[in-house]
Amino acid sequence: MSPDSAQVAVRLAQQIEASGPVSVAEYMRVANTAYYGRADPLGAAGDFITAPEISQMFGEMVGIWLSDLWLRHRPAACYYVELGPGRGTLAADALRTMKRLGWEPSVHFVENSPALRAKQVQAVPDATFHDNLETLPTDAPLFVVANEFFDALPIRQIVSTPGGWRERVVVQDGVSGFAAMPGACVTEDLIPEQFRTAAMGSIYELCPEASSIMHQLSARLAQQGGVMLVIDYGYTQPALGDTLQAVQSHTYADPFTNPGQHDLTAHIDFFELSNCAKNCDLLVAGPSDQGAWLSALGIDQRAQILAAANPSRAADIASARNRLVAPDAMGALFKILAAYAPDWPQPEGFGL
Ligand code: SAH
Repeated sequence: MSPDSAQVAVRLAQQIEASGPVSVAEYMRVANTAYYGRADPLGAAGDFITAPEISQMFGEMVGIWLSDLWLRHRPAACYYVELGPGRGTLAADALRTMKRLGWEPSVHFVENSPALRAKQVQAVPDATFHDNLETLPTDAPLFVVANEFFDALPIRQIVSTPGGWRERVVVQDGVSGFAAMPGACVTEDLIPEQFRTAAMGSIYELCPEASSIMHQLSARLAQQGGVMLVIDYGYTQPALGDTLQAVQSHTYADPFTNPGQHDLTAHIDFFELSNCAKNCDLLVAGPSDQGAWLSALGIDQRAQILAAANPSRAADIASARNRLVAPDAMGALFKILAAYAPDWPQPEGFGL
């Protein structure tokens, strides 16, 4: 256990001793703030790898998708916004492609990790940083991208018990540090009606922060114009299940040991995000499988061009393309959702 991680565990233990068990959401928030704040966790040598870190082609396809909308709508001014940009790789690849296609919007990053901000500034030196959405510019349309951002936000877990649906809380556990158990009763109203009589032990997850961010951004897009692209893994219809997972050095770990030392994520609820956008009068495309979306945008043609220009890397390029597109790799697990202002053109890549 690193000193940082030990500190997080001690702080959580003290908090629990002083004021009782914390919700799974609070546990996840404290653990992930420490985890992302301390170092860059991405890449082959880190804990996990994301699509833009696999190949430049991913960011390029995002850049092409955004450029198509920009070319068809031609706003007088606009901003590129990215939520949780990691190392800034996706932004750098997308912005390079956008420049080739004739536009160079100013760049705004919403990021709360000091360690990752330092990396992002190297990739995109002119970026402006924001702690949250409130300070994003209000005077022109926004082109928003969020890749594997929503899955890192804290989830609440509600579990079905003989005593009703209860919030799952985290307590201290002598052996492994922490453990989750049913806590105080919560109102059944939080549970979609079709799940209320589910088997004992069933878990329903909510991510209030994801809903709030999606709602705020959707209201902005409805007012200022623009589009938003959400890329992540998750479910497309309401679902039951415990999706909280911890990943360290590319393998799964116990989410309730060593908080702050591994990446805690949960599947995102595309159905809810889509509803947040629709409630703000945005139009929605998808969710579509990442593989289908990348193929529709021309990743195969791009892979061929890159391989022809770099014959010694042809095998690597083909393998990166497969990792991003193949259904048994990331192609079907990851989904893409677009939300856009009603007077904006229909986005490409969704088989509309
Ligand atoms: N989009 C990147 C990184 C994904 S990891 C990629 O695809 O490679 C999640 C990112 O979200 C990290 O940059 C992390 O620091 C950031 N993040 C997590 N929670 C956040 C929050 N509440 N506010 C702002 N950024 C957050």
